[in-house]
Formats: sequence, C-alpha cells, structure tokens
Amino acid sequence: MPTEKADVVVVGAGIVGCGAAYFLSKEKLKVIVLEQNAVGSGTSGHAPAMLGLVLHYVEPPELCEMARRGSQLTMELAPLIAAESGIDVGFNRRPLFTLAFSQQAWQEVRRLAPGTNLDYELLSSEECYKREPRLSRAAEVYGGMWVPWAARVDAYRLTLALADLAQKQGAQFLTRKAAGLVRQGSRVAGVLTSTGERIDCDSVVLATGVWTPQASAWVGTPLPVQPIKGEQLLFQYDGPPITMELEGVGVTNPPMVNWSIHPLGNGAYLSGVTASETYVFDTSIREEAKQAILDFTVRVLPCMAEARVVGHRTGPRPIPPDGKPILGPVASLEGVYVLAGNPGVQCCTMWGQLARDLILRRAISYSLKPFLPERFSAGVQGRYGIMALKEEPAGRR
Ligand SMILES: Cc1cc2nc3c(=O)[nH]c(=O)nc-3n(C[C@H](O)[C@H](O)[C@H](O)COP(=O)(O)OP(=O)(O)OC[C@H]3O[C@@H](n4cnc5c(N)ncnc54)[C@H](O)[C@@H]3O)c2cc1C
Repeated sequence: MPTEKADVVVVGAGIVGCGAAYFLSKEKLKVIVLEQNAVGSGTSGHAPAMLGLVLHYVEPPELCEMARRGSQLTMELAPLIAAESGIDVGFNRRPLFTLAFSQQAWQEVRRLAPGTNLDYELLSSEECYKREPRLSRAAEVYGGMWVPWAARVDAYRLTLALADLAQKQGAQFLTRKAAGLVRQGSRVAGVLTSTGERIDCDSVVLATGVWTPQASAWVGTPLPVQPIKGEQLLFQYDGPPITMELEGVGVTNPPMVNWSIHPLGNGAYLSGVTASETYVFDTSIREEAKQAILDFTVRVLPCMAEARVVGHRTGPRPIPPDGKPILGPVASLEGVYVLAGNPGVQCCTMWGQLARDLILRRAISYSLKPFLPERFSAGVQGRYGIMALKEEPAGRR
C-alpha cells in the first residue's frame, strides 16, 4: 500500500537534491525528498566549494560551458537564498589565482585559458611573485592565471538553506533510504523504501551523488559514478589574511595532485588536495596526505609555518568515467531524471532549474546531449575527467 503521494520524489538531500527540491517546490509541485542519513551528510557536507571556472572543468568544452553558467547562476542566487532563508551560506567573492609549478603546466594553463571565455590575465613568473609577495621563490612558479570573479560558498550551509526554503515552500523531507522504483508500463509510478513503504509519484529525481550506481538496477541503464576522494587540511593562521583563492597545477608531490589554499574567514584556511579512487564514503585523511599538504603549503607560502593545523576536510567527489555529469531523463524509464556528478556545488542551482524545466516540459536553452545517461547504455568507457587524474591510479579494480 502506498503511504504517500507526490508529484515528484527527489532521492538524496545533498546540495543537488535540495537545489532540485527548492526549484520544484517553488512551482507548487508536491515534492517529497528521501534522505537515507541527514541533509547534507554526503559529499556536500565535506567539500570546500569554489564557484568559478577552475581549469580542470575547461575540457571538454561542453563541461566548461556548464561550469561557467552554473557558477554564474549560483553566484547570483546564493546571496538571495541566504537572505530569504536567514542562513549565512558563507558567500564571498574573491579572485582566483592559478599558479603553474612546472613548465609543462604553464603551457597547459596558456593553452586552456582562452577556452574559459573569461575575463582573465596571464602573469609571468615575476608578476606572480609581485601579485602575492608571500609566495616563496623556492616554489618555482612558472606563470599564473588571474581570474578576478571567482567566489566561495559554504556547501553545507547552502544545502541547509535550500532545504529550509524547500520545506517552507511545502516540500516534505523524510529520513528514508530509497530501495527501488515502481514501474507502470514504461513509466515510473513510485519509489520503494528500504522499510517497505511505497511512495507514489509522477516523477523521480535521482540526486544521489556517489551512491548513484545503485540506481542502475532500478532503471536498467548503467549510471557509473566513481567516488574520488579528496583530502585537505584545515589551518588556523592569524597573520595578515590571504585575500585570494590560490591554486597550483603541475604539482609533483604525491599523493597531492594539485595544490590550493582557500580562505574560509576568521583566519581559517583549507589547503590540499589529493585524488584517489575509493569504494566507500570515506572522510578520513591519510598520514602521507597530511604530511604532503603541510610540506607543500609551507614551501609555497612560508608564512603558513606559523599556522596551526586544526583539522581536515575529506570527501569523495562524484565523478562519472568521462568526467562529465550525468544529467537528464533516463531513456529506459519515463519520468526518471538523473542529476549526478561534478561540479555539483557550482551547478546546484542550474541543475535544480533543469529538473524543474524537464518535469514541467519547459524549453532548455542548452544541449543536454553530452550529459544524457544513455551515453553509457552501450557500456562504460573513459577515465575520470578531472585534471588531477591523468594516470591510472594504483589499486584500481
Ligand atoms: C575535495 C573536494 C573538492 C570539491 N570542490 C568543488 C568545487 O570547488 N566546486 C564544486 O562545485 N564542487 C566541488 N566538489 C564537488 C561537490 O562537493 C559535489 O559535486 C557535490 O557536493 C555533490 O552533491 P550531491 O548532492 O550530488 O551529492 P551528496 O552531497 O553526496 O548527496 C547525495 C545524498 O544522497 C543520499 N542518498 C544516496 N543514496 C540514497 C538512497 N538510496 N536513499 C536516500 N538517500 C540517498 C546520500 O545520503 C547523500 O546525502 C568538491 C568535492 C570534493 C570532495
């Protein structure tokens, strides 16, 4: 017997599911969100969040366009969502300064920069040291890219704000694990929970992050998403503040794959980062990762030797094998829509609007073709598209 009836069931209350619930409930649709744990307890509660076009989203071009549009929309809406919900979502505009730590990386930065279609400045090595005089000469910076318009948001708080507003608009959040879908002919008719309930609905949005592969069996189409664990250290530094988002490419300091330091406010900084395949939801940090991040951060910014390490932040990025998010309707089961992948924080508003427009059959102003789930129906090929993982990682199954 069904216990509930909804227009739309959203599975997953991370930033993507809450974004979808927010935009769907705004249209007066009856929305039920199922979350197996707590709101924001998945990757969204464990990730730093840059809004801006970092270079690892530049290829392929369709991902670049999506990341740019998503960033712009979230930058526009995050302050409004904060004001409407009364939750400080940690929104701060800052420049993004990408440093190249090898000749090859510098060539790569210059090659990729025009594709960003952004307002950017390429800086020589000397200009980089002038722009941030605390950079150490020992770090050998070959050049840099300065983007004046990046921003940061607290992904967890933005998730909570979206959930709060969705609830105020009538969405219902239930602590339940979805365990399958109910079919009626070629359409979805409901969601089954692990406790045996059936929630009838017209449409289902799967916003299940790194757990998305579980739904492959529900819809009969492969939905491959690999958790790629990223580890970062949290520093407290009470010296003169660093006022930009710094990231570095061409880092040869395993297990780090690139470097970044993000000011979080009040002297807190997050620095990393690693990338390794994992098969569970793992938020621990390895000793070698801690040491590598600490050493490299102090090598690049010697002032950080005065900082205290006060914690870590680790989460698994949801990455499909070709690096592009999986977005849109599932061809094998009408009424089911997938929103899974990276960069979920910067695209949470755009993907929420996408779910709304698909369900309400409104026009979409960009092509979904490169992102459709059916691209994997003939089998799964490719490697994860984040810049960090160009090589086959050890221990891959
Ligand atoms: C180190 C690191 C750096 C990052 N940097 C950035 C960045 O700069 N910019 C950016 O945009 N993104 C960044 N990301 C990626 C971003 O954090 C993710 O893309 C985003 O948080 C994914 O959100 P989500 O809602 O899809 O997944 P999640 O937050 O994981 O939410 C999925 C939810 O679904 C629930 N769920 C799963 N299965 C079920 C089920 N069967 N029933 C009920 N509930 C279920 C889970 O419990 C979970 O709460 C980064 C990630 C990491 C780890």
